[in-house]
Amino acid sequence: MVWSSSRRRERFNPDWPKVRAFVLRRDGNRCQWPVKDDFGNVRLCGAPANEVDHKRRDGVRDDDSLDNLWALCRWHHQRKTEGESAESRRMNCERRKEKRWYSHPAFK
Ligand SMILES: [Zn+2]
Repeated sequence: MVWSSSRRRERFNPDWPKVRAFVLRRDGNRCQWPVKDDFGNVRLCGAPANEVDHKRRDGVRDDDSLDNLWALCRWHHQRKTEGESAESRRMNCERRKEKRWYSHPAFK
């Protein structure tokens, strides 16, 4: 049996370090995540950004075009990544939380 790696998805863009540096500079090294303030105005997070993220993912390949990339601070990047992976599990998670709440000793 031959294990071939030729079908491995090539995700890595050899120009990525350059693209990443460009996006960070373009966005002024500031997080571009839109944040709503108490008055409902949307502004940019503006925290120092050192991560570059894909706005959209189609699940097949990363779109490395510049208008699909933005600079994010670590916190927002992590939040977004967690959101993407947790989206499908959210319902289960909510149900589990509820169950845990009702199994609290106070309810017994
Ligand atoms: Zn941010």
